[in-house]
Amino acid sequence: MTSPHAFWLAGRQAAGDTTFDVTNPWDGRLVGTVAVPTEEQVEEAVAAAHAVREEFAASPAHVRAAALDHVARRLLERTEEIAQLISAENGKPVKWARGEVGRAVSVFRFATEEARRFNGGDAQRLDTDAGGTGRLALTRRFPRGAVLGIAPFNFPLNLSAHKVAPAIAVGAPIILKPAPATPLSSLILGELLAETDLPVGSWSVLTVPNDRMPALVQDERLPVISFTGSGPVGFSILESVPRKHVTLELGGNGAAVVLGDYASDADLDWAASRIATFGNYQAGQSCISVQRVIADASLYERLVPKIVAAVESQVTGDPSDPATDVGPLVSEAAAQRLESWVDEAVKGGATLLTGGTRDGATYAPTVLADLPEDATLSCEEAFGPVLSVQRADSEEAAFAAVNDSKYGLQAGVFTHDLQAAFRAHRALEVGGVIIGDVPSYRADQMPYGGVKESGVGREGVAYAMDDYTYERVMVLTGL
Ligand code: NAD
Repeated sequence: MTSPHAFWLAGRQAAGDTTFDVTNPWDGRLVGTVAVPTEEQVEEAVAAAHAVREEFAASPAHVRAAALDHVARRLLERTEEIAQLISAENGKPVKWARGEVGRAVSVFRFATEEARRFNGGDAQRLDTDAGGTGRLALTRRFPRGAVLGIAPFNFPLNLSAHKVAPAIAVGAPIILKPAPATPLSSLILGELLAETDLPVGSWSVLTVPNDRMPALVQDERLPVISFTGSGPVGFSILESVPRKHVTLELGGNGAAVVLGDYASDADLDWAASRIATFGNYQAGQSCISVQRVIADASLYERLVPKIVAAVESQVTGDPSDPATDVGPLVSEAAAQRLESWVDEAVKGGATLLTGGTRDGATYAPTVLADLPEDATLSCEEAFGPVLSVQRADSEEAAFAAVNDSKYGLQAGVFTHDLQAAFRAHRALEVGGVIIGDVPSYRADQMPYGGVKESGVGREGVAYAMDDYTYERVMVLTGL
């Protein structure tokens, strides 16, 4: 038997006194056994993060930039191995897992650049007012303290990178807590961090079980919490620590709008292919995957068959096969939950255009029309490979349909009309409007996050760096 994967405690590997298993959702095969930190070990990591915070905040930018650059280069070198691991722990097709490693490389590269230019400071003359005569204000940003980064299972490496890289860039200690289903890629990130000269205590990767997380969340030595995951867990964290600085990146039910001007065959082919791909990539388990298609009534009848054909061309199967587009969901229970939602919708009057079948943890890419307004799938995040299509009689009706949701993460609008693009940007209650594409587009440097129940605050390397720090002004007198 191989020994369990160690977690990372203040920069060194450690074993706890219990373990848990990580299995491949495709075939149930054991991928690895992971050590669980004891309460004393968690305490040691938090105390170390707290103790090093001033030293780390004062460390030279070039040292932190060099560490970030090292991680970027090593992730790139180890892409194939890490992609295979992500695919095995998550069930994600290996071609998407390679893309995820590439994005994590970008996150560390952006953080390298941002670390070099961050906190140059800003001078403001105060003598514009009589009371400020002879005074000058200098503003710099300082870390709020150590960060607790909590990551979900669906992009286990890249969303961990989005917690860790900005923290190192600003000199804030970070404790990363990966999702229990997918900790192995985060533990490899620990290996790469351990190759750097970052100070002891400045980072830990702790595989803490969920039932012990409330104590960590409450710990006052971790004043910043950056959480990506589901709404119920995220909002319960926010409510339990109202005085902390909490960022929540939560769920969505992404809408793709196809406006009436987007009507040539080439336009509809492009829209259908993007919708089919990004309704099903990661088996729909992305917070910005397409869940709702809202098409102008004038082109609905032409678009829907193209979407159905494109969805049916998605290759479902073994995630380790490079040809696979759609792998299993994270667990059989997740696929059963989705199955029950689709069954409920069909019983309530929805028309099944394709899909609707389950094999273990794998759910067939599915398209529904005539979804009842009160169906669970109309109201909740599907988090699976299920699309619904609906007509809109006007642009206003289409935008109103997008906004008729408790979520507000991103929306895609297929149009060539620049004025319509600006109207969408004004009208849509979401954190990001993607013109000419699906809602699923995310570049790792752009501000990213939601409104309503999709979250609080923004990620994106520079935005997370702002979030982890605060402005402190120094007023010079007698000048
Ligand atoms: P989840 O909420 O079940 O778990 C997220 C993380 O929280 C995991 O690390 C989990 O172990 C931890 N956790 C669980 N209970 C906790 C507690 N009481 N206190 C503190 N931490 C706790 O979410 P998931 O199933 O891993 O991820 C799927 C969800 O994440 C979906 O809703 C998806 O939309 C969302 N998501 C959002 C974004 C975004 O950027 N907006 C990105 C990816 C995923």
